[in-house]
Amino acid sequence: SDHKLDYPLSPAHMDWSSHFPAFIDPDTSKTTLGGARKLLKDVEVVDIGCGFGGLLVGLAPLLPDTLMIGMEIRISVLDYVRSRVHALRIQQQKLKNGTAAQASAENSNNAEASVDEDEVGSTTTIVPGNYENISGIRANTMKFLPNFFAQHQLSKIFVCFPDPHFKARKHKARIVSESLNAEYAYVLRPGGLMYTITDVEEYHHWVLRHFEYQSEEERAQGGIKDLWERVSEEELAADPCVRVMSFETEESKKVSRNNGNKYVAVFRRKADPEWI
Ligand code: SAM
Repeated sequence: SDHKLDYPLSPAHMDWSSHFPAFIDPDTSKTTLGGARKLLKDVEVVDIGCGFGGLLVGLAPLLPDTLMIGMEIRISVLDYVRSRVHALRIQQQKLKNGTAAQASAENSNNAEASVDEDEVGSTTTIVPGNYENISGIRANTMKFLPNFFAQHQLSKIFVCFPDPHFKARKHKARIVSESLNAEYAYVLRPGGLMYTITDVEEYHHWVLRHFEYQSEEERAQGGIKDLWERVSEEELAADPCVRVMSFETEESKKVSRNNGNKYVAVFRRKADPEWI
């Protein structure tokens, strides 16, 4: 339960150093409010309810200079994500060392050292960013998101195949809601993107209802939905993150195996209106 969850007093207290050691600022005089080493850049992408981390692993080479964090409430699942990222980083290091050793052997005796592409495969190639840019953290994102991220800190938030909580009395457990959408709008920067995907059609409509006005009367009244605009199909077709979200998360693979439908909706965070 929550009392066992570690969360920072504020984003300025958050210690990210153990998550992204390759990005620690060499200037030791720069510290967080808790006294930890600072990073050279802020975390910008969040995967809410990351599960086993497939999205992060897929995005890592696409956005090699962007720090991305998965947030997951289940301890064992989060442990798996941390070990997976750790193993990928070590593998990358070994491949690099191997390639360096190979290159120096090549230089010294002019031997032909070609890497067999088929044998290497996609998981054993050196990828941009070496997976140093992804990590996972245990958190209940329904409660502590603004403790981790400052206003406008994030450029992308992903909600992939959220637990559906079908029964009406369980709807309050859904991670898309009016109050949570206000938090997502707070941590996302204007121009930032909120990605959602689900295999449950009813949940997809729930998502649309929570981001888009349903009538002209509702629009005239105004509110938090002023902050969101739906991204067009053409734009989605050109966005590689949508492909990763649709095919590389563990849940998306399960849905593909079962020939299920996938409903994607992405919303752009608009500039703050005057009333904010
Ligand atoms: N996004 C992953 C994927 O597409 O494979 C996992 C989808 S899984 C159906 C939903 C995940 O959200 C679960 O791993 C669950 O533990 C996590 N989750 C549910 N509520 C959460 C919360 N409030 N905070 C963080 N994680 C949560």
